[in-house]
Amino acid sequence: MKHKMLALILACTAGQAIAGFNVVALGVDGGVEEGNLTSYLIRSDSQKLYLGLDAGSVLPGISKALEKGAFPQVTVENSAPYTPQGAVFRNLIGGYFISHGHLDHLAGLIISSPEDSRKPIYGSADTIGTLRQHYFNGRVWPNFSDSGSGMRIGTYRLNAPRPAQRFSIGLTGLDGTIYPLSHGGTPSSMILVSRNNESFAYFGDTGPDAVEKSKNLETIWRVLSGEVKAKRLKGIIIETSYPDGVSDSKLFGHLTPVWLLKELKVLEQNSGGNGSLNGLTVIISHIKPSLKADADPQAEIMQQLSAGDALGVKFVRLQQGDSLKLD
Ligand SMILES: [Zn+2]
Ligand SMILES: [Zn+2]
Repeated sequence: MKHKMLALILACTAGQAIAGFNVVALGVDGGVEEGNLTSYLIRSDSQKLYLGLDAGSVLPGISKALEKGAFPQVTVENSAPYTPQGAVFRNLIGGYFISHGHLDHLAGLIISSPEDSRKPIYGSADTIGTLRQHYFNGRVWPNFSDSGSGMRIGTYRLNAPRPAQRFSIGLTGLDGTIYPLSHGGTPSSMILVSRNNESFAYFGDTGPDAVEKSKNLETIWRVLSGEVKAKRLKGIIIETSYPDGVSDSKLFGHLTPVWLLKELKVLEQNSGGNGSLNGLTVIISHIKPSLKADADPQAEIMQQLSAGDALGVKFVRLQQGDSLKLD
């Protein structure tokens, strides 16, 4: 597993001719400790600007990614008058997609907002409503958005595109389509990002359809099977919050390895049956850390996924600051 991961984690090289996507992990955990909460960046290799995929931890992730060489295009000299960290934050992130209103997906965005440049935020109507009513409301935080109550500072333009309807994502050169997910009573969402003939799916928190009594994943697998068949899908980021053994009644709208494998099996069946997902990159996100001395949920989850994998997908766990090129 480690070798597979190492082979995949390539330092990003700017401006390569081959098309594809570039993913940077800014935060990879699903809670408990601040500083490494769910957030990724994605850009098309042909474009300069990244789209933020959730924003649990932003600035700490940028620092880590700079240390690991994920932004070779950024130097102390060309960052002036900002630090390299500030330059990535302000000038390379062209907008954010927020999957749902939970703190571990947007705390970094809120805390860093006074230093951000003007940019759009995209989300479902529910997520945008939560941002407007419960965060940027002049009470828990000044209103850095362009709508809602209190004095509007206007840094962020809030956008709630219609579900299943394609829209263009600001200056990133990417298109996006948002689909609903069920997350234990909280509406969550997935975004399918695309450019030309390539696409990438980012999932916010989700439970399995069977536990959620939902058809949201079923609908999404149908959409993604079209992407697989057309050989457009370059990878997905999806959660696996807990190791196997957590009872369905204690999942609170999350996945375990067994449940993720079952759900991916549905995608495989829709995509043409056995072997149709062979080689697909599946980045595992949102692992819940444990404070118990002998627990290592990350190692357990990755082991359980590879042990149970009959699909031939590449399960990848990125650490904070890692980057990955998907061709
Ligand atoms: Zn979460
Ligand atoms: Zn959540």
